[in-house]
Amino acid sequence: MAPVEAECGLCTETLWQPVTLPCGETFCQQCLRQWTITKLDEGMERPRCPCGCGRKLDYRLPSVNLLLRTLMEHSHAEQLAEREKEEREQEEPEILGGLSAWQEVAASQDLFVNGRMVVAWGTSGVVLCNHETTHVKCSGVGHGAAELAPGPGKVKFDACLSGSGTFNVSVGEIVPQLPSSFGFKIGQGVVAGLNLMIGDELVVAFGSPGTILAKSTLEGRIVVNFHCTVEGAERKLDVQAFELQPSHELLGGFRAAQRVQATQDILGPGEVVLVQAGTLGTVHSEYSDTRLVVSFESRLDGSPDAVNLCPQSIEPA
Ligand SMILES: [Zn+2]
Ligand SMILES: [Zn+2]
Ligand SMILES: [Zn+2]
Repeated sequence: MAPVEAECGLCTETLWQPVTLPCGETFCQQCLRQWTITKLDEGMERPRCPCGCGRKLDYRLPSVNLLLRTLMEHSHAEQLAEREKEEREQEEPEILGGLSAWQEVAASQDLFVNGRMVVAWGTSGVVLCNHETTHVKCSGVGHGAAELAPGPGKVKFDACLSGSGTFNVSVGEIVPQLPSSFGFKIGQGVVAGLNLMIGDELVVAFGSPGTILAKSTLEGRIVVNFHCTVEGAERKLDVQAFELQPSHELLGGFRAAQRVQATQDILGPGEVVLVQAGTLGTVHSEYSDTRLVVSFESRLDGSPDAVNLCPQSIEPA
């Protein structure tokens, strides 16, 4: 097989960390990031694909094309090793107390420019650039290590009240976003997915609303401000993701912890009746795109387990 002729249209070198865009064109990840920053600097709110197809370019790029990267590593090993060495030497330093360029963050407070609120607390964003000096580097002008002084970071926020969404922020105004594996974001409204206990004491009842504040300093945990605890006051708790549910409406308009009753007999495997029509229960969560998990006060087979059912089989009690 002839070697793959795969050049990046931006740097005209062998593709490095190739990212394939929705139009099918592929560029180096680093080249697309630089393109994004250059276009934002030119005042463009949403840069367009560099291939000229006219599509808007998301500043959260698609993942690296792993198959293409593997093929390239076989056919262009030498060039890519050289490129990797170059890039490592130029790696941008950490900023803002350990954040790095392209990291997912969230506003840790309402942000103001000239006394006007521009970004609301909890808004997600991406760190675009380390600081003004590395920014010079992003525009294609070289810089020496001596120029790298700490300064404000530039963040592109997903939503803003005025301006383009790109703002210079300082330490304390942003925090790292939760890892995507958590399935929740800072600022998101949630409900307790189960009774939250401290020791034997019930602190937050299943279904109580709260807001996600930050990643906890405790491994794998999230800081949530619950608005109404058993004691009645607000309280911050370090919880795990499985103890939470999004507070949006569930299938059929039901809510977590809502009291319901079966409108018909609920059948299990083999058409056996598990729950009789009229039995009271509590909505727990979504089971799938079409089914809910509900625990009923009694099951005909005596099992304490919750059942999954279509939302049409229940109604508010
Ligand atoms: Zn390139
Ligand atoms: Zn394109
Ligand atoms: Zn930069």
